[in-house]
Amino acid sequence: MSNIEKTSVVSGFYKLSIEKRREFVSQFAQLTEEDTKIFTSSLDITTADRMIENVFGTFELPLGLAMNFLINGKDYLIPMATEESSVVAAASNAAKIARIKGGFSATCSQPLMIGQLQLLHVNDVASAAQSILKHKEQLLKLANSQDKILVDFGGGAKDLEVRILDSSLGPMIVTHLVVDVRDAMGANAVNTMCEALAPMLEEISGGKVRLKILSNLADKRLVKAIAIFDKEKMGGDHVVDAFLESYVLASIDPYRAATHNKGIMNGIDALIIATGNDFRAIESGAHAYAARNGHYTSLTSYYKNKDGDLVGEIELPMAVGVVGGAANMHPKAKLCRKILGIKTAQQLAEIVASLGLAQNFAAVFALSTVGIQKGHMSLHAKNIAVMAGAKGDEIEKLADKLIVDGKIKLDYAKDLLEKQRKKAR
Ligand code: NAD
Repeated sequence: MSNIEKTSVVSGFYKLSIEKRREFVSQFAQLTEEDTKIFTSSLDITTADRMIENVFGTFELPLGLAMNFLINGKDYLIPMATEESSVVAAASNAAKIARIKGGFSATCSQPLMIGQLQLLHVNDVASAAQSILKHKEQLLKLANSQDKILVDFGGGAKDLEVRILDSSLGPMIVTHLVVDVRDAMGANAVNTMCEALAPMLEEISGGKVRLKILSNLADKRLVKAIAIFDKEKMGGDHVVDAFLESYVLASIDPYRAATHNKGIMNGIDALIIATGNDFRAIESGAHAYAARNGHYTSLTSYYKNKDGDLVGEIELPMAVGVVGGAANMHPKAKLCRKILGIKTAQQLAEIVASLGLAQNFAAVFALSTVGIQKGHMSLHAKNIAVMAGAKGDEIEKLADKLIVDGKIKLDYAKDLLEKQRKKAR
């Protein structure tokens, strides 16, 4: 497949056999035979044992491919590791609608992470804060001496900010170390620097440093994506209006915003996991950012443009890495990066944000039209069929009948299965 022909649009991809899907992705991403073996192998137990403690096995998740994504003018197949049905299909459908008007445009800031040092028992916090700032260059130099590799890559500690916070213990100084972590998620890098700075901060201030740790509210490391969703493809003006009416609730009500943002994270987490990144860090950053103005709200926003099409935007912190952590250790994480064809953390962040926007559009679109359950029915019916005891060909047959009868219930499935089996005898 040449680069010119390379497209992520494949009609009926979901109907292909698993073998054919693997063939397609191998050609698309120019995978080697070695790479394709990784599709079928599970995480080697020795590698797993190096990753966490007390290992006694590994845990598998389905890995699906989101299709149709056009991001910053380039086609992507997006690997998604998730246990939730309909997520991959929904993202692919949204991407198909978005590409009519040019797909997703995404940008991100410099990869700046924040490390916090909590300084207590200071006599005069105002003058101690001044002294810390006066020693900024020395403190940054000390921080950078901890990670020569990062500095060689153009990263390293770049700035120092001082905050004075009131607390039940009295005033405390919280120093923020701002570190450019380049292509790493950066937690270890930042934590190491923070720990190294603690003695010098104590000496400068006469206080005691307690916490020295990265902040997951990575609000200096933001990614944005925007897409236009074609109104005709959506079903016309009234559907765009219905969509906007549905969206408004997420912008004003935390009960709805929590579910709305959960839908965004359905997509985001699946890619974060597939690339070996820290999904708890991304989750906490996203939700803290959603509450940055004092009330929890939507991470996306929507409006109509002059043509009546729907415009969707997303903005959130994105602390992802393509080096360090599990991203380097897990063979499937490396394979997924190869499928994406990315080299930098910033490229990954832009794809993640686009996927989150697509996922959110798909959910709100379904909610404001047919409802969310319709899309879930097919796989849900199959799950119920399996729970009822169906095996092999019986599963599809029983699931189809459950959908036709409009009764996707376990007791009904058990009765039907018994009848089907009697009939087959
Ligand atoms: P890391 O320390 O494994 O790798 C980062 C290091 O790789 C850098 O410090 C640098 O020395 C080197 N490097 C080589 N090439 C680089 C490049 N191109 N760009 C940047 N650095 C390069 O990992 P990390 O990213 O510092 O930390 C991530 C891990 O920390 C994750 O596993 C995460 O789960 C964990 N963690 C998270 C938290 C948190 O989120 N609060 C806290 C502690 C640990």
